[in-house]
Amino acid sequence: MEVYLSENAFVGLLVSTIEVYRRECLGILLGHREPDRIMVDFAVPYQAARRKFQEVHMDWHRSQRVEEAVHTTSRWELVGDYHSHPMYGDKKSTTKLSGVDQKDFRDEGTSIIVAINDGHRKQRWGYVKGGLISGGVNGYAIRMAAYHKEGETLVRVPLVCPYAVGFMAKTKGPTPVEIRPE
Ligand SMILES: [Zn+2]
Repeated sequence: MEVYLSENAFVGLLVSTIEVYRRECLGILLGHREPDRIMVDFAVPYQAARRKFQEVHMDWHRSQRVEEAVHTTSRWELVGDYHSHPMYGDKKSTTKLSGVDQKDFRDEGTSIIVAINDGHRKQRWGYVKGGLISGGVNGYAIRMAAYHKEGETLVRVPLVCPYAVGFMAKTKGPTPVEIRPE
């Protein structure tokens, strides 16, 4: 089992996480399921997340309503959810699931955790040990991990995103061509 992020989903996760930093964001993942992987096509932020100290919580009734709306209007399915773990004070955040995250984990569900910290140096995007994706954007250090629950077992599964890994190369793309008036 692995979780595959499209360009849209990757950018959606980044924007959602950075927009509300240092608060937490929460949203749903739309895409489709294949036998051995979950394809995530879009990340859609939730406007109203119930916030507790350091944690955001998903309201599953709301989520069911959204799931039905998505099902009726598109070819996507609701394949999971995501939330961010922002740096808190001087305390660096990680992609580890908190106790509450584990307790709230949906049966047969998939979750992506995005850890965001202040970062200084430019950091190349790439895969890191344990199936995580890591990199830097405009002074933020970002790390993403995917988790999946099968039966009673909660496991971290590889997160795959060719777009993210090509990110640095892309920023060094062709030089712009100046358009001169005739
Ligand atoms: Zn969490």
